[in-house]
Amino acid sequence: MAIATVNPATGETLKRFKALTSEEIDLKLAIAQDAFACFRLTSFAQRRQWLENAAVILERDAEKFAEIMTTEMGKTLKSAVSEAKKCALVCRYYAEHGEAFLQNEYTETDATESYVSYQPLGIVLAVMPWNFPFWQVFRFAAPALMGGNVGVLKHASNVPQCALAIEAILEAAGFPEGVFQTLLIGAAQVEQVIKDERVKAATLTGSEPAGASLASLAGSHIKPTLLELGGSDPLIVFPSADIDEAVEVGTFSRVLNNGQSCIASKRFILHEAIAAEFIEKLQIKFASLKVGDPLDPETDIGPLATENILNDIVQQVDRAVELGATVLVGGQQLDRPGNFFPPTILTDIPADAPTMQEEFFAPVAMVFTVKDIDGAIALANNIPFGLGSSAWTNDPDEQQRLIRDIEAGAVFINGLVKSDPRLPFGGIKRSGYGRELGLDGIRAFVNAKTVWVK
Ligand code: NAP
Repeated sequence: MAIATVNPATGETLKRFKALTSEEIDLKLAIAQDAFACFRLTSFAQRRQWLENAAVILERDAEKFAEIMTTEMGKTLKSAVSEAKKCALVCRYYAEHGEAFLQNEYTETDATESYVSYQPLGIVLAVMPWNFPFWQVFRFAAPALMGGNVGVLKHASNVPQCALAIEAILEAAGFPEGVFQTLLIGAAQVEQVIKDERVKAATLTGSEPAGASLASLAGSHIKPTLLELGGSDPLIVFPSADIDEAVEVGTFSRVLNNGQSCIASKRFILHEAIAAEFIEKLQIKFASLKVGDPLDPETDIGPLATENILNDIVQQVDRAVELGATVLVGGQQLDRPGNFFPPTILTDIPADAPTMQEEFFAPVAMVFTVKDIDGAIALANNIPFGLGSSAWTNDPDEQQRLIRDIEAGAVFINGLVKSDPRLPFGGIKRSGYGRELGLDGIRAFVNAKTVWVK
């Protein structure tokens, strides 16, 4: 994929970038290695200050960063402003708590003193997707840098200006040269970086094939990885729930980020007693959403990020319909320039259709009706993924059952599945492994060194 800014609302190529050569990659890694030698010795107080400075810049220039995001990947400007501000939150969170999270942990043994000391690993490679082009990077960078690591970023090829802006923010915040560098490289060049002995670990957020490729390369070089991959989260609704709120939140979740969020509610699993009411209200909501220019404050849904994503969703929906699915709302690519696909609701998807096992990375909701909680859990778990899940019921027994039995990295009861710097985030099954955010996020890339002194 060419490294370029292509406006998804118009299809116009605005800027092209040359990929780094192999020698240039080597030079950047040498700079990172030199930077680590000093950076690992900086105090928590110093790193805290730099992260706080980054938060100030993100908030101060949120509109400017939002415009870059919207131009490169099509999210609405208002959601891009929120994203820049959320990045400030994660910087402040690790600035405030990072030192406490990495304090020595003492244990009584036969030694005079024994404890675990958390130390940085060195250069960590982050391979990131375009869908939350700032947030995905900052939720890696804030804990990794607070822990004393240095980062190199291979961002998605369609968001090079976001990648360069992030590097500039961290530099302007005061982090020394080389502590965080953007590598403008294609996917095939990731291998050179992973294989390099100066690189000690890697994290990837993106698709399953990319995750599998990175993890197997890293595995063959005995390097730890963290993977945040796709999902097809269920949203389960039972009769005791507040149906209007579930419809409201379910709609928001499904169309958020133009339908391109890993933790969107993609499969609506409804108890038969409330299914008709829920579907009727969901149809009204979906039909009322405004699709259009992402820079317009009135727009709810902008274009999909790339033409390939648009083509994929058109094919996925067509296949589902051929197999017997019914389209309640939307279903056809919009007849206008840009990658626009309308909010869509599919029902009657046959149980054996491959569609059931796929992630829909666009504002397309699949709706199912079940008789009871066993049916809901069986359907929710009948998927290769296990990222998030949302369940709506006010019955405490049902809540406990769903919390226990849904196979996912997170269960949210009566609420929107979201990432929060204070809570760990990640998946199971083919959604990946490891956790970002919270305590786990900063412990992901440190050496838990055992110390025994007599
Ligand atoms: P993608 O194609 O896997 O791209 C993600 C990143 O991986 C990009 O930087 C891409 O570079 C790179 N990449 C692609 N193939 C690679 C390979 N073989 N080796 C190394 N790097 C490679 O993902 P996407 O389709 O753009 O993103 C959407 C997916 O990400 C969805 O499945 C979504 O659910 C998932 N996602 C998960 C989370 C989470 O937290 N779990 C969050 C957001 C998104 P190029 O751009 O140069 O190809």
